[in-house]
Amino acid sequence: MNALFDLSGKVAIVTGGNGGIGLGMATGLSAAGATVVVAGRNSEKNASAVAQLLAAGGKAIAIEVDVQLEASCHRMVEQTVAALGRVDILVNNAGMNIRKQPQAYALAEWNQVLQTNLTSAFSCSQAVYSEFKNQGAGKIINIGSMMSIFGASFATPYAASKGGLVQMTKAMACAWAADNIQVNAVLPGWIDTALTRQARTDVSGLHERVLDRTPAKRWGEPGDFGGIAVFLASAASDFLTGTAIPVDGGYSVQG
Ligand code: NDP
Repeated sequence: MNALFDLSGKVAIVTGGNGGIGLGMATGLSAAGATVVVAGRNSEKNASAVAQLLAAGGKAIAIEVDVQLEASCHRMVEQTVAALGRVDILVNNAGMNIRKQPQAYALAEWNQVLQTNLTSAFSCSQAVYSEFKNQGAGKIINIGSMMSIFGASFATPYAASKGGLVQMTKAMACAWAADNIQVNAVLPGWIDTALTRQARTDVSGLHERVLDRTPAKRWGEPGDFGGIAVFLASAASDFLTGTAIPVDGGYSVQG
């Protein structure tokens, strides 16, 4: 394996690593040699993702976490260090959406989306910071969205959370560069997962609009995220920080 991309001996936590884009990233990280912590709420999904990574010859464990709770984020990191001795890579991928017109949200729904998508990434990043600082290195990968760039009538809190993630990425990148911690964001285009299967039901015409606007003329797959995860987690990206990289089949550059 090219040493630039070799993750042997590294430990990577992937929140929401039990399915969709998170599992796609976990699979890439695992194939590059990292031990992966699959961190999600659903223990059955966690176990099945771990079984999939082990069957492919990787190393992985599951840790239950509800990223909406600060204490749970900190416990996830403590349990990782207790079980595996270290943590080198954090992927803040757990996320959800509630689709409505802005006037229809209850404040509790707004808070739930912000808490799950944005505040969780803040808490998990705070939780790994002292480990990264003591080790003299660390990588944080935040999962934004096309809605980090664009708006959508049905996604006010989601867009706010994903826009906020990009600005949080830049601020943490500035703060922690001196500690040799790189913080970057990935902005997925439209990817075929449980999240968007629901969106295709909720938003009429979405499927056709996505295909029409995506130059690659297909929905993305979770497997499309293995490469970017390895790049941003490895020595190959040591001088790259504070960026937000679209992985979208060209969706965001189509005029
Ligand atoms: P999925 O619904 O397949 O995955 C969401 C993941 O988040 C699940 O693994 C889920 O685990 C986890 N999760 C949700 N809430 C919590 C919580 N409170 N605590 C812990 N884990 C939680 O969707 P995707 O794979 O599509 O989404 C992954 C990320 O990618 C999200 O941040 C999403 O916003 C983003 N994204 C997705 C796009 C797409 O087109 N699919 C486009 C742009 C961004 P569990 O079931 O155990 O709760």
